[in-house]
Amino acid sequence: MRKIQMVDLQSQYEEIKDTVQNSFEEVLESAAFINGPQVRSFQKELEDYLGVKHVIPCANGTDALQIAMMGLGLKPGDEVITADFTFAATVEVIALLQLTPVLVDVEPDSFNIDPEAIRKAITPKTKAIVPVHLFGQCADMDSIMEIAREHDLYVIEDNAQGIGATYTSADGSKKKSGTIGHVAATSFFPSKNLGCYGDGGAIFTNDDDLAHTLRGIVNHGMYERYHHDVVGVNSRLDSLQAAVLRAKLPKLDAYNQRRRNAAKKYNAALNGHQDIIIPQLANNCTFICDTCDCHVFHQYTLRITNGKRDELAAHLAEKDIPHGIYYPIPLHSQKAYRDERYREEDFPVTNQLVKEVISLPMHSELDDEQIDYIAQTIRNFLN
Ligand SMILES: *Cc1c(COP(=O)(O)O)cnc(C)c1O
Repeated sequence: MRKIQMVDLQSQYEEIKDTVQNSFEEVLESAAFINGPQVRSFQKELEDYLGVKHVIPCANGTDALQIAMMGLGLKPGDEVITADFTFAATVEVIALLQLTPVLVDVEPDSFNIDPEAIRKAITPKTKAIVPVHLFGQCADMDSIMEIAREHDLYVIEDNAQGIGATYTSADGSKKKSGTIGHVAATSFFPSKNLGCYGDGGAIFTNDDDLAHTLRGIVNHGMYERYHHDVVGVNSRLDSLQAAVLRAKLPKLDAYNQRRRNAAKKYNAALNGHQDIIIPQLANNCTFICDTCDCHVFHQYTLRITNGKRDELAAHLAEKDIPHGIYYPIPLHSQKAYRDERYREEDFPVTNQLVKEVISLPMHSELDDEQIDYIAQTIRNFLN
C-alpha cells in the first residue's frame, strides 16, 4: 500500500509537472513576477469557471476576507455575524478591523452556520453575515440571503473550503459557491481544493463598483498611479502562483469528483456503525452521484459519538494514519474572542462537535486500498 497522507500534493504535481515547469520558465524569463500576464489570464479563467463578473486576486484567503470587509465600508463597532465552528481567520479579520464579531451556533448535520441562530443574533448594529462553506459544503444560502434582504445586511461568503461546489436553490437554480452573496473570499493555500505552491487568495463579486473599490484596496488604495484615494493594503497574487493555479483550474472539477468518489467509498465502509455519523448532506444537496457537484469534500469529517474520539485519534496515529481535529475549540471559547455576551447554552451544537469530529485523509489521489485500510482500522478500534 502507498503511504497514506492527509493531503497528497506530490502525486498531484506529477500530473501537471510539465505544464507548471514550462509556465515557470516563461515567468522567469519574462521577469513579470507581479501582476504579469499569468495573473491576468488566471483572473479571467477563474471568472469564466465561476460565472462571476469579477475576480480580484490577492495574497491569501485571510487578506481576501479583510479586503472584502474593507471594500464594503464596514466601520468600527459594526456587528458581523459568523459561525462559531470554523477556522479562526474568519473571526480574526473582523476583530482586526475593529468590527464586532458575533459568533453563532451551527447546524449539526451540515456543520454550517444556523440561519435561526443568525436571526436571533441580529441587532440594529448588525451590518454583515459571513457564512463559511465549511469542509466543502455550502451553507444554507437561500435562508441567509433572505435574512440579509429583510435586514439590509451584506453577505460575505468565506469560500476558502468550498471552491468548485455548486449550490442549488429551492427554485432549482444553480450557482457556484462564492457567487451568491455580495462578495466572497477564497484561499489558494496549498492544501485547499484549488491550491498553489505558496500563499494565494482571491475575492469574487458581481458588483462593478465594489470590484473597482477592491482593486484599489489590494494595491495601496491606488486607482491612479501614486494617487491614494483610500487606505489600502499590499496584497498580491504573484505570477508563479498564478501559473500553478492555471495548470490546476482546468482539473478542479475532476479533482473534486475524485474527492467525492473517495467520500462515497468511505461512506459505504463506515455507514451504519452505531458510534459513527458519516458526513451529512445539507438540504440543498440530497445525494452524492457521479454528476452531483454540491459537496467538494475539502474535509471528510466523521462524528464519533461514543466519547472515544481522542482515543481513536491516538490509535490512528499509532497505525500511521494521518487525521485532523477541525476544530478542537469553539471560537467563542478562544482567549482572543471571548465576549461577555456569549452564553454556553447558545452553542450546544459547536460545543458537542468539537468533542466528536475527526477528519480523515482526503485528497484527489486517495486509492481504494488506502480507504479500506483506514475504514477497517476505525471499525476494528470501535468494534
Ligand atoms: C484556509 C482558510 C482561510 C484562510 O486562508 P489563508 O489563505 O490561509 O489565509 C479562511 N477561512 C477558512 C474557512 C479557511 O479554511
